[in-house]
Amino acid sequence: MLKSLEEHDKERMEAYGQPKRTGIACPVCGEETVEAETDARLVFYPPRIDIFCISCPWRGTCLV
Ligand SMILES: [Zn+2]
Repeated sequence: MLKSLEEHDKERMEAYGQPKRTGIACPVCGEETVEAETDARLVFYPPRIDIFCISCPWRGTCLV
């Protein structure tokens, strides 16, 4: 029995513990988004961080 992407992500989120909240609403469902743990913010200019929604599969970036 394969698990869905949502189930996998939920498991990983629980494994990582509490993510850092962004205060930004998800553009899809309106729930709060959180920061992804990444060093990618240093790679681009202007610096962006990966953020994702804890309630739906939406992912994106925001300026730091
Ligand atoms: Zn969402």
